[in-house]
Amino acid sequence: MVNEKSALRKKLLSVRNSLPRQEISLSHLEDFEKFKNAKTVFCYVSAGSEVKTQSLIQEMLTKKRVVVPYCTDKCGNMIAVEIKSLDELKEGLFGISEPVTPKEFPKEEIDFVIVPGIAFDKDGYRLGYGKGYYDRFLSDINPFKLGICKKELFADNLPHDEFDVKMNKILVI
Ligand code: ADP
Ligand code: MG
Repeated sequence: MVNEKSALRKKLLSVRNSLPRQEISLSHLEDFEKFKNAKTVFCYVSAGSEVKTQSLIQEMLTKKRVVVPYCTDKCGNMIAVEIKSLDELKEGLFGISEPVTPKEFPKEEIDFVIVPGIAFDKDGYRLGYGKGYYDRFLSDINPFKLGICKKELFADNLPHDEFDVKMNKILVI
């Protein structure tokens, strides 16, 4: 199972790296009732070939309480940190921009989570970079989880384990 995931991860990451860069904005999310009603939105800060989120974050800052991930170690643990401006971010672990002041935000207060991934499938399963950051972070809370997926990387079926947290919906762009 681990080998099946890691072989696929390698292959699909190279597919993602070869695709044109895309970004999401508020207009992609406004149709989601759960998003409209959400007070607090957790959103990944894009890096590398991930679908870009910087403009979305900028747009959300005036409308929502915005929290972003901060990796507390290299082995799969992260916390949520509130930001008021993109200027509060600086490149941290893995080349990802993270809050300079990592004050932990109570994750139970998060209503809606925008989740990155290498690939997602029709059942809502996700293939990440292989450290389980999102599986651990989402294991003890139950916000609405939206996976952001490039159309070429939306699969029928991905291998998954019992600890893999399913998305409620995948936004295929
Ligand atoms: P990814 O989700 O990044 O694609 P995996 O699903 O393969 O990666 O998970 C990576 C590792 O994270 C797994 O080997 C697993 O041991 C660990 N993991 C996932 N969820 C949890 C959890 N809730 N508690 C502890 N370890 C976890
Ligand atoms: Mg997983």
